[in-house]
Amino acid sequence: MVAEVIVDISNSEVDRIFDYTLDGSPDDVRAGFRVLVPFGRQTVEGYVIGIKEKSEFSSLKPIIKKLDAYPVITEEMLALMNFMTKAYHLRKVDVLRLFIPAQMRGGKVKELTVKYASIAEEYRDKDEMLFIRPSAQAQLDLFYHLSECGRDSVTELNKNFSAAALRNLVSRGIVVLVEEEELRVPYSQINKEKVKEVTLTPAQSKVVSEVCSEQSGTYLLHGVTGSGKTEVYMRCISFVLERGKTAVMLVPEISLTPQVLRSFRSRFGDNVALLHSGLSVGERFDEWRRLLDGRAKVAVGARSAIFAPLSNLGLIIIDEEHDSSYVSESNPRYITHEVAAFRASFNGCKLLLGSATPGIESYYHACQGDYKLLELPERVNKKQLPEMEIVNMCKEVYDGNNGVFSRRLISELTDCMARGEQAIIFINRRGYSSYMMCRHCGYVAKCEQCDVSLVYHKEENVLKCHYCGNRYAVLDECPQCHSSSIKRGFVGTQAIVEQLSQLFPDKKILRMDNDTTQNKNSHAAILGEFASGKASILVGTQMIAKGHDFPNVTLVGIVDADMSLHFADYRACERTYQLITQVAGRAGRDTKPGKVVLQTYSPHHYVYRFAANNDYKGFYEKECNLREVTKYPPFSKIVRVLVSGESEELCSRTLKGIFDDISVLSRDNRGSFAYFAAMKSPVKRIQNKYRVQILMRIVSGFDKIIGNVYNIVDRHTVSKVSVFVEINPNNLS
Ligand code: ADP
Ligand code: ZN
Ligand code: ZN
Repeated sequence: MVAEVIVDISNSEVDRIFDYTLDGSPDDVRAGFRVLVPFGRQTVEGYVIGIKEKSEFSSLKPIIKKLDAYPVITEEMLALMNFMTKAYHLRKVDVLRLFIPAQMRGGKVKELTVKYASIAEEYRDKDEMLFIRPSAQAQLDLFYHLSECGRDSVTELNKNFSAAALRNLVSRGIVVLVEEEELRVPYSQINKEKVKEVTLTPAQSKVVSEVCSEQSGTYLLHGVTGSGKTEVYMRCISFVLERGKTAVMLVPEISLTPQVLRSFRSRFGDNVALLHSGLSVGERFDEWRRLLDGRAKVAVGARSAIFAPLSNLGLIIIDEEHDSSYVSESNPRYITHEVAAFRASFNGCKLLLGSATPGIESYYHACQGDYKLLELPERVNKKQLPEMEIVNMCKEVYDGNNGVFSRRLISELTDCMARGEQAIIFINRRGYSSYMMCRHCGYVAKCEQCDVSLVYHKEENVLKCHYCGNRYAVLDECPQCHSSSIKRGFVGTQAIVEQLSQLFPDKKILRMDNDTTQNKNSHAAILGEFASGKASILVGTQMIAKGHDFPNVTLVGIVDADMSLHFADYRACERTYQLITQVAGRAGRDTKPGKVVLQTYSPHHYVYRFAANNDYKGFYEKECNLREVTKYPPFSKIVRVLVSGESEELCSRTLKGIFDDISVLSRDNRGSFAYFAAMKSPVKRIQNKYRVQILMRIVSGFDKIIGNVYNIVDRHTVSKVSVFVEINPNNLS
């Protein structure tokens, strides 16, 4: 027999299958095993991805040995590898590496075993004087200790008793040693609490029974903040577990809070395995193996948990499905929704997408009937969604208030503090990469062709459009109102905290942003302190937008709402709507009503109007119309071919080769290309590498065209340049 092996070397030249003979191999090697193989003059690790009768090559080398006792890659994951290599133009080895804990490679992580000592069966309850001399006090001490406690670990025994005595008793068969695996449990301090039994609301019941009524299918759950989506997820998971199946639930990394873990542990106990970047190497390895061998049946984790090695999946849930972290932006690039759809279809199981603010593309699929739409339009117990007030910051400037806070926000904060309640001040940092705005009339510099905001590039002192590459001169006067208070920039979190401390000197104010959460536990510590009520105001960035339930928060202030609105991205409006709704959802979650003050220089923008009215559908319709006219997703797919390398000349030459071939392709498929151009990347150099790119928007026949693009790219890829093809990237810089 012959094994087909992918060697664990990430390099285009060796990204193919190598055959090794299994004849004379003592191991029962099958597909999915990791093995050690001779490769050139080295030995390398590899993955067996198939077994066949014979090879077209002669004199095959044998496999040296298998590396694990069990196959680490299932049949399903091998199929997924094929899908991903094709859909995203990835190397097989890069995909395979996603499927196992990184430290398994090179044997850098192992099972943790503990050696236990206990008295051998036949010596128990016997008179020890028959086999231990009365003068051997050390042996007697040890014997009495073990009789009393039953068993103890060798490490502990050696601390408290004589090691020689233990050796002696073991050698005479009086004490026996057994080695047992000890699992490393992440966040073990978060214990299983008693399940808080809740009765589903009629709306929740309806959703659960719809999801549970079918074997397969894709569902989009649109449920407002605080509508009890988590409870729905858990009920649906229970349902599939009862039927002997397994489940995956994905959440964005930053919403994987202790709260979420606590409720899952209390509901599903040891059936839950956590996959999360905050885990230690050993914890990750153990959680992963519990999923692989079936000890755990529910995987909860961030994006990469979509590769959880579960078999017999019954349900995949993607919570906050609109979140941009579900698109992997670095190699290997992939789109989690598509991977989830593949696994759902392979297993014939259900895929449930949930959000308070679904992505426009997902909602479009629901409207088209591709997904089944489920709704939770009200908060649990009919609690009101917070009232949102839009404050026109241009008017503040006009009235002489040049501060960060509007008069309205200050007065609301004052009242909130006087009532002894808590407030959250949200600083929007998404895309702060400086757009130009007039503080007088709210004018924002935009690309004349693309209708997206221009981005200021300091080193060249120009404004650029990230979608078409057009360049514009920097403005020093507003073209609309001729005011000279046109500027870029933003206020820092720290400055805001300082100003708040001056306004409320006797209140404790916490800050949560990238600077204050460098430390692994600081995130939880800040949230814990706020939850305890010791602090009155929490100032923070995106990190505070999601998933937290603080009952005493009755006011949310959004300082720079516009930041993400003018981000140079066709999804800027969508992202802004999502962000505002998420942050606003932090207010008034308990009995007291909540209030949101949103500060903006564009008070009449449709995003704010719809957000203030909680009118997601209205927003969707408007946004969808715009995208249809401009041919942006879901009405097209954006493809970027990014070429980078140290030699500018080589990059340009490679780009030109690719461009010429795609030009032919576009001529042959005229109707399919809504846009096609080559240009310098908006950020021309990163880490001394030149970057040039081709952008296109494909409106039809995508699979065929992308296949051709991949082939073209392969033909032109040479050493010393790297070429990446990205589909609907989050970021075009
Ligand atoms: P969402 O994820 O939709 O924002 P959550 O799942 O956080 O909402 O639920 C909000 C709160 O309502 C949570 O504290 C949750 O425990 C509670 N909850 C959910 N369902 C019910 C129910 N049927 N009865 C009472 N409380 C519920
Ligand atoms: Zn443009
Ligand atoms: Zn102006």
